[in-house]
Parts: sequence; structure tokens; C-alpha cells
Amino acid sequence: MTVEYDFDVIIVGAGLAGSSAALTLAKEGKEVAIIERGQYPGAKNVSGGALYGPVLNKIVPNYWEEDAIERYLTTKKITLLSEKRAMTIDIDLQDFAEPPYNGVTVIRPKFDRWLAQKAEEAGAFILDNTVAEDFIWKDNQIIGIESGEDELKAKLTIIAEGAVTLLAEKAKLAKKPSPSHYAVGMKETYELKKEIIEERFHLNGNEGISNEFLGYTHGIPGGGFFYTNKETLSFGLILNMKKLIQKKIRAIDAFEDFKKHPYIQKLLKDAKMVEYSAHAIPEGGYKHMPKLYGNGVMIAGDAAGMVLNAGLYIEGMNFALESGRLAGLAAKEALTTNDYSAEGTKIYLKLLRDSFVLQDLKRFKRAAKFLERERIFNVYPELLNSLMYQLLHNTGEPRKRIVPTAIKHFLKKGKLFKLMGDAFAALRSI
Ligand SMILES: Cc1cc2nc3c(=O)[nH]c(=O)nc-3n(C[C@H](O)[C@H](O)[C@H](O)COP(=O)(O)OP(=O)(O)OC[C@H]3O[C@@H](n4cnc5c(N)ncnc54)[C@H](O)[C@@H]3O)c2cc1C
Repeated sequence: MTVEYDFDVIIVGAGLAGSSAALTLAKEGKEVAIIERGQYPGAKNVSGGALYGPVLNKIVPNYWEEDAIERYLTTKKITLLSEKRAMTIDIDLQDFAEPPYNGVTVIRPKFDRWLAQKAEEAGAFILDNTVAEDFIWKDNQIIGIESGEDELKAKLTIIAEGAVTLLAEKAKLAKKPSPSHYAVGMKETYELKKEIIEERFHLNGNEGISNEFLGYTHGIPGGGFFYTNKETLSFGLILNMKKLIQKKIRAIDAFEDFKKHPYIQKLLKDAKMVEYSAHAIPEGGYKHMPKLYGNGVMIAGDAAGMVLNAGLYIEGMNFALESGRLAGLAAKEALTTNDYSAEGTKIYLKLLRDSFVLQDLKRFKRAAKFLERERIFNVYPELLNSLMYQLLHNTGEPRKRIVPTAIKHFLKKGKLFKLMGDAFAALRSI
């Protein structure tokens, strides 16, 4: 019996991975549908909002000529927080002020809608308010999806369902998720007048800043983020799920405490909170990724565990965009050869291996384990802040020499050997 297909490719999820795949395929003239459970693409999607411009430019060339992004990032700050104290590295990079812009900020409901619209304009069909519940199988091959009573058949299916991998499990590609491989991300959006944002953060025109934070999280691995948009601020905290459970701390309580830090209070002064959201983030890294392709199917973005957490880099959006694009290209190849089996979709793995997606995830494969060390999140931020206090505090007494004071400070706190061990582990992992 031959199958009557409704589409060449069905994509589950109109997030970044899904819309990127759909746009790639629609531009190639393929018949493609995106199934999205939200009221519209991006309705429920959550991100801090910092995205790399060159990756987006590959998918939508000259994207900056449209009203899709908020600001381009020229300043990066990394702040170590301890009780009442803060120490910041402030990096001003005017080199990043030219298109395609190194980093930009986006607001997901607006950005995802724009990207899905691009796919629609290229010929993709978007079915929103629709949940893909299960697959249709024939001879051990996925040939479409079920949604309630409805069935939609396609030669290939791309799973881009995000962090909750219900379909990836049903496709027999992913195992049941464990909290050890996830973080909880909480995000708030604050309104603040454009002029105040630009004055407070020393921004010219559409320049923006990103500020990441380490410490003041009850020792729970993770960190905070703060990004400027045109007339809003994105602020949030990402915390390791396993450690929250072990320490019996509610994520929301840790977030409320984090917000009380004087440094954070100054950033958010007079700003009005207008939105709160929370979402899971896969953090297992390379070692815990599912199988990425099978008979009639491929997985992209968060659903495939493609999030890089290497301390300085915490990113998922560029991985979602690029893996979606590559899944689209792989699907095009399989359609050309009329081979929809795992033999035909295997090309996806090769494309991923040749790109930054698998190369970066592999390079930093030890990072997730390294970043479980609680000392990084409580002891060291405190140690450095107290050292700075000691060096800068004027007591009216004669000054002490800087380097011996620093060594004594670390020895007194009994942390020098642990620091050396952690430095060695860091060298191997990040
Ligand atoms: C608080 C927070 C801050 C973050 N900050 C950043 C950041 O600053 N920079 C960065 O690069 N990354 C960041 N990330 C990670 C980033 O948001 C994700 O990596 C990215 O959104 C993944 O995109 P995706 O398309 O794979 O999944 P998603 O964006 O989650 O999209 C999945 C889509 O699938 C739909 N869907 C799911 N199941 C079904 C179904 N059965 N049927 C139909 N539709 C379905 C959903 O509604 C959704 O639209 C952050 C994450 C969080 C939670």
C-alpha cells in the first residue's frame, strides 16, 4: 500500500529550531507544515534574549533591516556577587557595533512570530493552537503525526518541541529526562523608559548591554542574566534542578532572594515588572543528547539537548536556529534521494558534525560536570569580593603589599589547594 502524504515535511514546534527548519525547506520549494500548540508562534516561549547575529544572518540575511530585534550588544559585564558586595568585569566592545552584529537582544513572542511569518511568506503552512500528540508509524517508520482525531502524513517529521521531550521519547530517540540534566530558568520583563535605559547604562542609540552574574544563589550552580531591550529590561536566574531538589530550595524563593541584592536593586530601580515566565533548560550537554535521527525523523534545538553551558557562554537560541537550518537541509537531501529511512536522514548528523553545533557541544562536553562544583558559585565570588574589600578599605593604617595580602587571604580561608584543583579541572573542561 502506498501512503498518500499531505506534506513533504511536518515540523513540530514553531520555536527557533522549528521555524528555521521550515524557512529553509520552504525556500527550497518543499511542502512543509509547522504544528504549534501555542496560540501563535512564540506565545509561550522563554529566553533571556541574547542571540548571536551571524547565526541569524545565515537564516534571514540582513535581518537588521527589519523590526525583529531590540538592541545590539556592545557591552558585556560579568558580576561576581556576595552578601552586599559586587565585583564587575566590564567589557566595552565597539567592534560589535556593525552588522551582522555579534550579539542582539530579542523578545521571543515578537521574534518567534516574525521568524514563523518569514517561513509562511516563503510558503510554509502554520497550524497553531494544535498539539502533536503522537506519531503515525508504518513498517517501523514515522510517517506523520496525530492530533486528537486528526492525522497528518508526511515523508519526514522534524521534532522541534523544545525542552520537554515527550515526542522525542515516543519516537524512541530520547530517554525519560532526569532532573540532573536540566536547569530551571526564570525570567521577568521590566518596563523602563527608553531615555532612562540609555542614560543609566551609557548606551548610544540602539546599543545594548548584557550583564551576567555568578554567586548569591544559595550555592546552587547557575547564574543570573540582565539584558537591555528598547523599552524593557530582561532579567532572570537559571538554577540547576538537581541541586535545588537536594537542598530543598524552591527556585522562586532563590529568585526572590537574588533580586534583593543591592546591585540588582540598582539595575531595576523604578522599573515596573510586566511579565514573569519560567521554563526548563536542558543542560546535560553532549554526553546526554538523544539519538538525533531515525526512520522518517530528526530532532533539533532544545529537544535534542543542544544547549551550551560553559560558564562564560550560556546559549541555546543559536543552536536551535542552526540545527533547525541543518535539519531542513538534511530533509531536502533525503527528499531528493527519496530515502526517508535512517539511512536517508543520517546526513543530518554529518551536517551537525561539520558545524559549530556538535563541535562546540563536544569541545565543552566536560563543562556540565565541572559547573556542578558549588564552590564556583558561593566560595569564590565571596573570596574575591572580600579580598577586594580588604585591599581597598582604608583603615588609616599603613598599606600592606598587594600580592602577599592576596595569598594570605586565600590561605587563611583554607581555599588555596581547592582553588588549584578547581583551576586544573577548569583547564580540562572549559
Ligand atoms: C530563562 C531562560 C533564559 C534563556 N536565555 C537564553 C539566552 O539569553 N540566549 C540563548 O541563546 N538561549 C537562552 N535560553 C535557551 C533558549 O531559550 C532555548 O535554547 C531556545 O528557546 C530553544 O529553541 P527551540 O526552538 O529548540 O525550543 P522552544 O523555543 O522551546 O520552542 C518549542 C516550540 O514547540 C512547541 N511545542 C512543544 N510541544 C509541542 C507539541 N506537542 N505540539 C505542537 N507544538 C509543540 C512549543 O509551544 C514551542 O513553540 C534561555 C532559556 C530560558 C528558559
